[in-house]
Amino acid sequence: MDGNLTMAGDSNSGKRSAARFSGSGMTSDRTRTRMIDALRQRGVKNEKVLSVMAEVPRHVFIEEALRERAYEPDKALPIGFGQTISTPEIVAIMTELVCERPLGVPKKVLEIGTGCGYQTAILGKLAKDVYTVERIAPLMDKARRTLRDLRYYNVIFKHADGHFGYADAGPYDAIVMTAAASHVPQELTAQLAVGGRMVLPVGVDQQQLFVIDRTENEFLQRVVHDVRFVPLVPGIA
Ligand code: SAH
Repeated sequence: MDGNLTMAGDSNSGKRSAARFSGSGMTSDRTRTRMIDALRQRGVKNEKVLSVMAEVPRHVFIEEALRERAYEPDKALPIGFGQTISTPEIVAIMTELVCERPLGVPKKVLEIGTGCGYQTAILGKLAKDVYTVERIAPLMDKARRTLRDLRYYNVIFKHADGHFGYADAGPYDAIVMTAAASHVPQELTAQLAVGGRMVLPVGVDQQQLFVIDRTENEFLQRVVHDVRFVPLVPGIA
Protein backbone atom coordinates (compact mmCIF):
# COMPACT_ATOMS: atom_id res chain seq x y z
CA MET A 1 0.00 0.00 0.00
CA ASP A 2 2.45 2.61 -0.94
CA GLY A 3 1.51 3.86 -4.34
CA ASN A 4 1.19 7.20 -2.63
CA LEU A 5 4.89 7.88 -2.52
CA THR A 6 5.47 8.21 -6.21
CA MET A 7 2.83 9.28 -8.64
CA ALA A 8 3.54 7.11 -11.65
CA GLY A 9 3.03 8.96 -14.89
CA ASP A 10 3.10 12.40 -13.29
CA SER A 11 5.87 14.43 -14.82
CA ASN A 12 5.45 17.39 -12.50
CA SER A 13 8.01 16.97 -9.73
CA GLY A 14 6.48 19.72 -7.59
CA LYS A 15 3.19 17.90 -7.57
CA ARG A 16 5.03 14.67 -6.93
CA SER A 17 6.66 15.94 -3.77
CA ALA A 18 3.37 17.43 -2.57
CA ALA A 19 1.79 14.01 -3.16
CA ARG A 20 4.56 12.33 -1.22
CA PHE A 21 3.43 14.11 1.92
CA SER A 22 -0.31 14.32 1.39
CA GLY A 23 -0.55 10.65 0.41
CA SER A 24 -3.54 8.69 -0.74
CA GLY A 25 -5.65 5.79 0.51
CA MET A 26 -4.57 4.71 3.98
CA THR A 27 -2.05 7.54 4.22
CA SER A 28 -4.33 10.33 3.04
CA ASP A 29 -5.35 13.56 4.73
CA ARG A 30 -8.78 12.00 5.28
CA THR A 31 -7.26 9.08 7.18
CA ARG A 32 -5.39 11.60 9.32
CA THR A 33 -8.65 13.40 10.05
CA ARG A 34 -10.09 10.11 11.28
CA MET A 35 -7.11 9.79 13.63
CA ILE A 36 -7.88 13.26 15.00
CA ASP A 37 -11.51 12.27 15.59
CA ALA A 38 -10.33 9.15 17.44
CA LEU A 39 -7.95 11.23 19.58
CA ARG A 40 -10.82 13.57 20.49
CA GLN A 41 -12.92 10.57 21.51
CA ARG A 42 -10.06 9.43 23.72
CA GLY A 43 -10.10 12.76 25.54
CA VAL A 44 -7.52 14.91 23.75
CA LYS A 45 -8.94 18.43 23.83
CA ASN A 46 -6.19 20.89 23.00
CA GLU A 47 -7.10 22.28 19.57
CA LYS A 48 -3.58 23.52 18.84
CA VAL A 49 -2.17 20.05 19.46
CA LEU A 50 -4.90 18.39 17.39
CA SER A 51 -4.33 20.80 14.52
CA VAL A 52 -0.59 20.15 14.30
CA MET A 53 -1.23 16.41 14.52
CA ALA A 54 -3.62 16.82 11.61
CA GLU A 55 -0.81 18.47 9.62
CA VAL A 56 2.16 16.18 10.23
CA PRO A 57 2.21 13.13 7.91
CA ARG A 58 2.94 10.32 10.39
CA HIS A 59 3.24 7.75 7.61
CA VAL A 60 6.48 9.23 6.28
CA PHE A 61 8.17 8.41 9.61
CA ILE A 62 7.28 4.73 9.27
CA GLU A 63 8.74 2.02 7.05
CA GLU A 64 6.72 1.41 3.91
CA ALA A 65 5.36 -2.03 4.84
CA LEU A 66 3.66 -0.61 7.96
CA ARG A 67 2.36 2.68 6.58
CA GLU A 68 -1.24 1.54 6.30
CA ARG A 69 -1.32 1.50 10.09
CA ALA A 70 0.25 4.92 10.54
CA TYR A 71 -2.94 6.66 11.68
CA GLU A 72 -4.29 4.11 14.13
CA PRO A 73 -4.44 6.15 17.36
CA ASP A 74 -3.11 3.45 19.67
CA LYS A 75 -0.41 1.75 17.58
CA ALA A 76 3.26 1.85 18.56
CA LEU A 77 4.99 0.51 15.44
CA PRO A 78 8.59 -0.74 15.13
CA ILE A 79 11.15 1.73 13.72
CA GLY A 80 14.20 -0.57 13.83
CA PHE A 81 16.94 -1.19 16.44
CA GLY A 82 14.32 -2.61 18.82
CA GLN A 83 12.64 0.80 19.16
CA THR A 84 9.09 1.95 18.46
CA ILE A 85 7.35 5.11 17.34
CA SER A 86 5.16 6.36 20.20
CA THR A 87 1.40 5.99 19.67
CA PRO A 88 -0.46 9.08 18.40
CA GLU A 89 -2.40 9.02 21.65
CA ILE A 90 0.65 9.29 23.90
CA VAL A 91 2.23 11.89 21.61
CA ALA A 92 -0.97 13.94 21.94
CA ILE A 93 -1.10 13.52 25.72
CA MET A 94 2.54 14.49 26.24
CA THR A 95 2.34 17.44 23.86
CA GLU A 96 -0.88 18.63 25.49
CA LEU A 97 0.78 18.48 28.90
CA VAL A 98 3.75 20.62 27.87
CA CYS A 99 1.55 23.14 26.03
CA GLU A 100 -0.72 23.51 29.06
CA ARG A 101 2.02 24.48 31.49
CA PRO A 102 1.19 27.71 33.37
CA LEU A 103 3.34 29.84 31.00
CA GLY A 104 1.69 28.36 27.90
CA VAL A 105 3.17 26.83 24.76
CA PRO A 106 6.94 26.38 25.26
CA LYS A 107 9.35 28.27 23.00
CA LYS A 108 12.40 26.13 23.60
CA VAL A 109 11.97 22.38 24.01
CA LEU A 110 14.37 19.54 24.72
CA GLU A 111 13.35 16.06 23.61
CA ILE A 112 15.15 12.95 24.85
CA GLY A 113 14.75 9.97 22.49
CA THR A 114 14.35 11.25 18.93
CA GLY A 115 13.51 7.81 17.51
CA CYS A 116 11.95 8.35 14.09
CA GLY A 117 11.38 12.04 14.80
CA TYR A 118 7.56 12.12 14.82
CA GLN A 119 7.19 13.62 18.30
CA THR A 120 10.03 15.97 17.33
CA ALA A 121 8.02 17.13 14.32
CA ILE A 122 4.93 17.79 16.41
CA LEU A 123 6.98 19.80 18.90
CA GLY A 124 8.73 21.57 16.03
CA LYS A 125 5.41 22.94 14.77
CA LEU A 126 4.55 24.39 18.18
CA ALA A 127 7.85 25.60 19.60
CA LYS A 128 10.39 28.06 18.19
CA ASP A 129 13.32 25.70 18.73
CA VAL A 130 13.54 21.99 19.45
CA TYR A 131 16.71 20.26 20.64
CA THR A 132 16.53 16.49 20.37
CA VAL A 133 18.92 13.87 21.73
CA GLU A 134 19.16 10.26 20.51
CA ARG A 135 21.64 7.53 21.54
CA ILE A 136 21.35 5.39 18.34
CA ALA A 137 23.20 7.20 15.54
CA PRO A 138 21.46 5.61 12.50
CA LEU A 139 18.01 6.37 13.95
CA MET A 140 19.02 9.97 14.53
CA ASP A 141 20.42 10.31 11.01
CA LYS A 142 17.21 8.94 9.51
CA ALA A 143 15.05 11.27 11.61
CA ARG A 144 17.26 14.17 10.54
CA ARG A 145 16.69 13.29 6.86
CA THR A 146 12.93 12.92 7.33
CA LEU A 147 12.64 16.29 9.05
CA ARG A 148 14.84 17.92 6.43
CA ASP A 149 12.56 16.56 3.69
CA LEU A 150 9.59 18.00 5.58
CA ARG A 151 11.45 21.35 5.71
CA TYR A 152 11.94 21.72 9.43
CA TYR A 153 14.65 24.29 10.10
CA ASN A 154 14.19 24.66 13.86
CA VAL A 155 15.34 21.24 15.07
CA ILE A 156 18.85 20.64 16.40
CA PHE A 157 20.01 17.02 16.77
CA LYS A 158 22.53 15.65 19.22
CA HIS A 159 23.89 12.11 19.30
CA ALA A 160 24.39 11.52 23.02
CA ASP A 161 23.14 9.81 26.14
CA GLY A 162 20.02 11.77 27.02
CA HIS A 163 20.41 11.08 30.75
CA PHE A 164 22.58 14.20 30.72
CA GLY A 165 20.28 16.32 28.59
CA TYR A 166 21.80 19.07 26.44
CA ALA A 167 23.07 21.57 28.98
CA ASP A 168 24.82 23.87 26.49
CA ALA A 169 21.54 24.98 24.92
CA GLY A 170 19.46 25.08 28.15
CA PRO A 171 17.53 26.05 30.11
CA TYR A 172 14.36 24.77 28.43
CA ASP A 173 10.70 25.75 28.74
CA ALA A 174 9.81 22.08 28.35
CA ILE A 175 11.56 18.71 28.36
CA VAL A 176 9.85 15.67 26.84
CA MET A 177 11.37 12.25 27.36
CA THR A 178 10.14 9.41 25.17
CA ALA A 179 11.93 6.50 26.86
CA ALA A 180 11.35 5.35 30.44
CA ALA A 181 13.93 6.19 33.09
CA SER A 182 14.21 4.17 36.31
CA HIS A 183 14.22 7.47 38.23
CA VAL A 184 13.93 11.17 37.41
CA PRO A 185 17.37 12.22 36.09
CA GLN A 186 18.52 15.22 38.15
CA GLU A 187 20.72 16.46 35.30
CA LEU A 188 17.52 16.97 33.32
CA THR A 189 15.43 18.76 35.93
CA ALA A 190 18.42 21.09 36.38
CA GLN A 191 18.02 22.10 32.70
CA LEU A 192 14.41 23.25 33.16
CA ALA A 193 13.80 27.01 33.19
CA VAL A 194 11.76 28.47 36.04
CA GLY A 195 8.18 27.98 34.84
CA GLY A 196 9.36 25.03 32.75
CA ARG A 197 7.70 21.64 32.64
CA MET A 198 9.13 18.17 32.11
CA VAL A 199 6.99 15.21 31.01
CA LEU A 200 8.56 11.76 31.28
CA PRO A 201 7.78 8.09 31.80
CA VAL A 202 9.38 6.68 34.96
CA GLY A 203 9.60 3.08 36.11
CA VAL A 204 10.99 -0.29 35.18
CA ASP A 205 8.29 -3.00 35.26
CA GLN A 206 5.44 -0.59 35.83
CA GLN A 207 5.81 2.84 34.35
CA GLN A 208 3.97 6.07 35.02
CA LEU A 209 3.95 9.38 33.24
CA PHE A 210 5.35 12.09 35.53
CA VAL A 211 4.86 15.84 35.15
CA ILE A 212 7.42 18.02 36.90
CA ASP A 213 6.97 21.80 37.10
CA ARG A 214 9.84 24.03 38.13
CA THR A 215 8.71 27.04 40.16
CA GLU A 216 10.88 29.79 41.71
CA ASN A 217 11.58 27.67 44.77
CA GLU A 218 10.82 24.04 44.08
CA PHE A 219 9.99 21.19 41.72
CA LEU A 220 6.35 20.06 41.82
CA GLN A 221 5.86 16.46 40.75
CA ARG A 222 2.67 14.59 39.89
CA VAL A 223 1.76 11.31 38.22
CA VAL A 224 -0.82 11.41 35.44
CA HIS A 225 -1.07 8.02 33.67
CA ASP A 226 0.16 4.46 33.58
CA VAL A 227 2.24 4.10 30.41
CA ARG A 228 4.52 1.71 28.53
CA PHE A 229 7.69 2.97 26.83
CA VAL A 230 10.97 1.41 25.77
CA PRO A 231 13.63 1.94 28.45
CA LEU A 232 16.08 4.83 28.63
CA VAL A 233 19.39 3.05 28.02
CA PRO A 234 22.76 4.40 29.17
CA GLY A 235 25.58 5.19 26.70
CA ILE A 236 25.50 5.67 22.93
CA ALA A 237 25.27 3.25 19.99
N1 SAH B 1 9.58 9.76 20.13
C1 SAH B 1 10.13 8.63 19.49
C2 SAH B 1 10.20 7.50 20.47
C3 SAH B 1 11.16 6.47 20.07
S1 SAH B 1 11.37 5.22 21.26
C4 SAH B 1 9.27 8.22 18.30
O1 SAH B 1 8.06 8.37 18.37
O2 SAH B 1 9.82 7.71 17.32
C5 SAH B 1 12.52 5.94 22.38
C6 SAH B 1 13.82 6.41 21.81
O3 SAH B 1 14.65 6.77 22.92
C7 SAH B 1 14.58 5.35 21.02
O4 SAH B 1 14.92 5.87 19.77
C8 SAH B 1 15.83 5.10 21.87
O5 SAH B 1 16.99 4.79 21.12
C9 SAH B 1 15.98 6.43 22.59
N2 SAH B 1 16.77 6.35 23.80
C10 SAH B 1 16.80 5.37 24.74
N3 SAH B 1 17.69 5.67 25.70
C11 SAH B 1 18.22 6.87 25.37
C12 SAH B 1 19.21 7.71 25.96
N4 SAH B 1 19.84 7.39 27.10
N5 SAH B 1 19.51 8.87 25.34
C13 SAH B 1 18.91 9.23 24.18
N6 SAH B 1 17.99 8.47 23.57
C14 SAH B 1 17.65 7.31 24.15
